[in-house]
Amino acid sequence: MAHKKTLNWIPPGHETQYKNWIKKLEKSKRFRHAREQNKKNGSPTFEEWWERIGPSSYRLKAYMDFRAFHEKQKHDFTHLFYLKGFNEGCFRFFGINCCECCGEIIEDEQNPTAYEMFCEFEDEELKKLKQQTVH
Ligand SMILES: [Zn+2]
Repeated sequence: MAHKKTLNWIPPGHETQYKNWIKKLEKSKRFRHAREQNKKNGSPTFEEWWERIGPSSYRLKAYMDFRAFHEKQKHDFTHLFYLKGFNEGCFRFFGINCCECCGEIIEDEQNPTAYEMFCEFEDEELKKLKQQTVH
C-alpha cells in the first residue's frame, strides 16, 4: 500500500532518548541474542521494527489529541499505548483503522471529518516546511 507523506510527530527529545535506550539495551546479552535470532530468521530486529512503526504511534497519538479536542473529549494516552497495541497485533483503535505493516492511519470510521481536517492541517504544515527548505 502506498503511504502518504506525513509530518514527523516525534518530539525532539524522544529520538535521543530512544537512541540512548537502545545503547543501554545493547549491553544486555538477551537483547543481543534476540537480535541475532531475528536476523537468522529473517524477521525485523527491534530497531527495524521501531523505525517502521514507532513514528506511526506518535502520529496516532497526535491525531487522537486532535480528535478528542474537537469532540470535547479527554485523551490521556501516550504513544506508548498505541505502540504496545501495534506490538500485540492490534491495528484498530477507537474506530481508526491502521495499516498492519507500519501502523499508519488508513481511515477513521468513527470521525472521518476530523481525520480529513487533520490531514489538511498536516498538508499545510508540510507545504510550509517545503517552502522553508527552498528559500
Ligand atoms: Zn503500512
